[in-house]
Amino acid sequence: MKITISKFAGFCQGVEMAYQTVINHAKQNNGDIYILGDLCHNHEIVKKIKSLGIKKINSINNIQKGTIIITAHGIAKEIVFKAKSKKLKIIDTTCPKVKRLQQIIFKFYKQGKKIIIFGDESHKEIKGANSWCDYQALIVSKIKDLRNIDFSKFENALFVSQTTQNQKNFMEATVILQKKIKKIKIFNTICQTTKDRQEDIKNLAKENDAIIVIGDTHSANSTRLFQISKQKNKNSFFINSAKKLNLKKFSKFNTVGVSAGASAPQWLISEIYDKLKTVSK
Ligand code: SF4
Repeated sequence: MKITISKFAGFCQGVEMAYQTVINHAKQNNGDIYILGDLCHNHEIVKKIKSLGIKKINSINNIQKGTIIITAHGIAKEIVFKAKSKKLKIIDTTCPKVKRLQQIIFKFYKQGKKIIIFGDESHKEIKGANSWCDYQALIVSKIKDLRNIDFSKFENALFVSQTTQNQKNFMEATVILQKKIKKIKIFNTICQTTKDRQEDIKNLAKENDAIIVIGDTHSANSTRLFQISKQKNKNSFFINSAKKLNLKKFSKFNTVGVSAGASAPQWLISEIYDKLKTVSK
């Protein structure tokens, strides 16, 4: 069996930087360290962070001293202000691509534009980004919803995207909005690594008998990779651990492509690759 691993598989720069910062900080052991939510959507990484003695919190209301870590997804601006007023030490690992999204929203909101975000309302990145326009953004995740919305009150708007959205869908959404809104400023804020992965998985899915996407189901970018792969190749499998790899299913394939979401660590990809190699063909 020929196995091809995508050169874009695994940690993106943003997650890598956040992970290394947190590991280094934990080693220095400077009192209590708290992390606002999961560092990334991967259960192995979450376990590792916990093993370092870093406590996961969802709010800083009950924290009076120590260090708080802001994850790569960013958080709401008022939480940062509150942490500063409490004199908590802040380790900010917000990805620069997410910061850029926040800054664009803030700039154009101040200019009076209506903000439209193409993204998942419940996702941490979007909750944080929405705070930069005082939670006034219209958040849409589906093309069909966009088609049905009345935009008559949106004569002057900004359209941006969650950094890990589907590039093809965002472009489609852009065309729809340009027809519906007279004055619309558009920034494609999908990060380059997301675009690269999505392009690459399309080719892998066409060129291989089967595809494995490594990632957790609650990881937005991994889920989208899997969806794109499935559209091109019905033999697409979404797994988050080597244990879930059912080798029997793969014995009939001559070629397998492997990709992984931005939150999948290299050791997990290697583990799955090693197990896959044991399939004789
Ligand atoms: S997926 Fe993109 S935006 Fe998100 S952390 Fe990675 S590089 Fe940053």
